[in-house]
Amino acid sequence: MTSVPLIFERSRRGRRAADLPACDVPEVAVEEVLPEEYRRKDPPRLPEVSEPDLIRHYTALSRRNHGVDIGFYPLGSCTMKYNPKRNERAARLPGFAHIHPYQPPETVPGALELMAALQEGLAAVTGMDAVSLQPAAGAQGEWTGLMMIRAYHRARGERRTTVIIPDSAHGTNPASAAMAGFRVVTVPSDDRGGVDLAALEKVLGEDTAALMMTNPNTLGLFEEQIAAIAERVHMSGALLYYDGANANAILGKTRPGDMGFDAVHLNLHKTFSTPHGGGGPGAGPVGVKSFLEPFLPSPVVRREGGRVILDDDRPQSIGKVHTFYGNFGVLVRAYAYLRAMGADGLQQVAEDAVLNANYLMRRLAPHFDVPYDRICKHEFVLSGARQRRAGVRTLDVAKRLLDFGFHPPTVYFPLIVEEALMIEPTETESLETLDAFAEAMIRIVEEAEAEPETVRSAPHTTPVSRLDETRAARSPVLRWIPGEAAEDPDDEEAPAAANRGGTE
Ligand SMILES: *Cc1c(COP(=O)(O)O)cnc(C)c1O
Repeated sequence: MTSVPLIFERSRRGRRAADLPACDVPEVAVEEVLPEEYRRKDPPRLPEVSEPDLIRHYTALSRRNHGVDIGFYPLGSCTMKYNPKRNERAARLPGFAHIHPYQPPETVPGALELMAALQEGLAAVTGMDAVSLQPAAGAQGEWTGLMMIRAYHRARGERRTTVIIPDSAHGTNPASAAMAGFRVVTVPSDDRGGVDLAALEKVLGEDTAALMMTNPNTLGLFEEQIAAIAERVHMSGALLYYDGANANAILGKTRPGDMGFDAVHLNLHKTFSTPHGGGGPGAGPVGVKSFLEPFLPSPVVRREGGRVILDDDRPQSIGKVHTFYGNFGVLVRAYAYLRAMGADGLQQVAEDAVLNANYLMRRLAPHFDVPYDRICKHEFVLSGARQRRAGVRTLDVAKRLLDFGFHPPTVYFPLIVEEALMIEPTETESLETLDAFAEAMIRIVEEAEAEPETVRSAPHTTPVSRLDETRAARSPVLRWIPGEAAEDPDDEEAPAAANRGGTE
């Protein structure tokens, strides 16, 4: 692949991508409106390019990366499914996009109605009584839910200081519990990949504030003993928190509220159609049963006398967790998605997600170790232990997939599986795509036997080959002006030249 020049290298003095009409209002000298201290001394060092150069530059850059609009992205736990463009259009409607967050609520009844209706939709999907749309991410939803659980126990005069979390959990679970001031107690999984009930009973006690669970869990497995678990947890006076970041397997089929959970968050940016990755805006609404409602973040969006109001008279609230009312554009996309799918569509999502995952799992099962060989939900976990014994690691398999045009699955997570590959095909992929991916994986497994070096040195066809990932993360070279000296590649302390993305 050829290199893409920097936009500064394309720059020629005087070139412009826009042609503005002559000014039709009186010109005012900048000196008259801006005090000296705020005025530039030197013109900004901006590239000067024509429109074709501009478009070609950014299009070329965009083609050097992988995205779900380019190809298959089976990243386990993260649900990188295709997001319909219709929902983007809805979020960009001027009536939504141009609202100012300080606008008086009476002037935006449509936005308030949308938030109330989305809350009702998410409450219906999760089996909860009330929802707050404020949290900006799954992790913040977890933290918000745990802060509410903490406030609940305190309001009852109870001191409960620990949160129990299974060893298969997503890393944000223990992090959120610690941020909310709890001590984390880990409970091991049993040999079917579920929570070990006997071990849970041992750690449940008067100091337990909550058990945090993901169901289906991060192995893609539905917790078979959920009713018994919920009963034990509630008997001990603790509450049950549901990490609903990966809800596409259960939509319209079962609900955390029916399983006995008291609080839940959803990731709108995974399940409800907001493109994500790269840290863009997300939303992690929390839903709760009615006894936790007084503790919801303030203001609460609710209906009163035929109107939707912002209620900030909430003496027991944990307070505000986000500026204004959350990431509104994400909420519009989720609402558009919910309405377009309807109840039938959501059920179809769950059925297709589960069917796709089981199909892919069965196609790959003969070629990998399958640590938990059960019917899975929306994702499944393979182990590359067999390949590792032949000298090829899961990381190598993941890198080699890039040469076939696929984003690799999640690797080395969950932590309880050796050389883990965690694969979520999602509901939006066709049989042909699943087959093409399976064939690429099988070919890589065969290569690992016949020519392991090809796999170990992959990728071979991408803009950059294998990076030193630690150094690329710790000392990224994000800015480079042509003509400035490159670092000495042999200097261990200098940022690696490869981190800049050298080309083949
Ligand atoms: C993605 C994910 C989270 C965290 O969500 P963020 O929006 O990234 O904070 C939590 N739990 C599970 C199971 C997830 O997949």
